[in-house]
Amino acid sequence: EHEFEKRFNIPHMTDFFSDAESYPSTFCLRMRTPVSEDFAQGYPSDEEWQGYIDTNDRVLLKVIRFSSPRSAGAECIDPDCTWVEQWIHRAGPREKIFFKPENVKAAIVTCGGLCPGLNDVIRQIVITLEIYGVKKIVGVPFGYRGFGKEFAEIPLTRKVVQNVHLSGGSLLGVSRGGPNVTEIVDSMQERGINMLFVLGGNGTHAGANAVHNECRKRGFKVAVVGVPKTIDNDILLMDKTFGFDTAVEEAQRAINSAYIEAHSAYRGVGVVKLMGRSSGFIAMQAALASGQIDICLIPEVPFELHGPHGVLKHLKYLLETKGSAVICVAEGAGQNFVEKTNAKDASGNVVYGDIGVHIQQEIKKYFKEIGDPADVKYIDPTYMIRACRANASDGILCTVLGQNAVHGAFGGYSGITVGICNTHYVYLPIPEVISYPRTVDPNSRMWHRCLTSTGQPDFI
Ligand code: ATP
Ligand code: MG
Repeated sequence: EHEFEKRFNIPHMTDFFSDAESYPSTFCLRMRTPVSEDFAQGYPSDEEWQGYIDTNDRVLLKVIRFSSPRSAGAECIDPDCTWVEQWIHRAGPREKIFFKPENVKAAIVTCGGLCPGLNDVIRQIVITLEIYGVKKIVGVPFGYRGFGKEFAEIPLTRKVVQNVHLSGGSLLGVSRGGPNVTEIVDSMQERGINMLFVLGGNGTHAGANAVHNECRKRGFKVAVVGVPKTIDNDILLMDKTFGFDTAVEEAQRAINSAYIEAHSAYRGVGVVKLMGRSSGFIAMQAALASGQIDICLIPEVPFELHGPHGVLKHLKYLLETKGSAVICVAEGAGQNFVEKTNAKDASGNVVYGDIGVHIQQEIKKYFKEIGDPADVKYIDPTYMIRACRANASDGILCTVLGQNAVHGAFGGYSGITVGICNTHYVYLPIPEVISYPRTVDPNSRMWHRCLTSTGQPDFI
């Protein structure tokens, strides 16, 4: 019995409804290819094998045994403990389902900002629901706002979604803000929606969990399943979230352009602002992937611009020794340098000051003051990256997440989200994964690799 096994328990219909009924799964699995008798020893026979995931299956999240809590990257809850063992529910189709497909009305909603792969996930959810035998599938337009009376549902079928993954964005549209949880659940009851798939970030998931709780309070048998959408890859415990790979690849293109611009100019400086409100994963990975970054600035690592150890001094050194330089900065980095706006978006998120523009201006000012030339080019590829179509690896991740979201709902789980942990697909309780954003550990091996690659010093 591990403490963490309890910690990652996910809510199930049977926890709330004593009358929760189950039925044999309507999800048809392909038969296993017959195997030779020698090989099949100890395995279930071909007739017995059905390929469902047992509800007691768990995935072991941590496999590293640290020799010391001071080892780089050691994440120990207890300071005296040098090992971590966490078990998570394995995702996949269950043998028993808790909804009759003919009684299901499923809805899909996408909220927050755009992220590559949204259409891929929508597509797989629709296709998988149809395979279970669901006839009523709808899209809610423009995020949670679409639950308002003025919006009509978008009917979804395999035919409608067949080619949607070929373009970026969201077929359903996205938005921030919108109706409160009571209004959303009222609308779901009116429309008869009893399966809700929610694609979005931390805010959206907080909303999804609130919807799940409100439904339980009302005794309304609904499955609410999230698919985490964060281009920043800042969800706790997960190996990666969909869209991240594509973002890094596209960020690399922007960096390459900045490099060419900087390299072709006399004392050229390229500045690229990348996504990453609280986590610098995109900036770090893009720096590593491109090999063309001299200075990588992320929210987790404080830095100085001016002063003897500041970024500008190092930039001067780079121009003198290399002739050009490229900086990438995550949007949440160096927020102490930019004016606080106190502005909030429709969802209540703080609007950040523009660190990219600030750095560009400070570089220009600095070189003007010291009387040295510097040709500064600034690139902000944010919206170009967000609107991209998912690459192959994200396309596959979206496919698996979308399918597993449907399996989770039919399996009777609610208030869960899907993810990939330690290379396996899992279900996690929503509150656990959105309690705070995952960040780059400045003491991790990966950040040290990034520093090794850029050759940058500590700017402090
Ligand atoms: P992104 O990563 O793109 O910002 P997000 O899901 O965090 O995605 P938000 O704009 O913060 O995007 O939130 C999306 C939706 O979730 C909005 O419609 C917002 O009203 C709702 N929401 C945000 N926070 C909460 C909360 N704590 N409870 C209920 N609903 C919320
Ligand atoms: Mg958010």
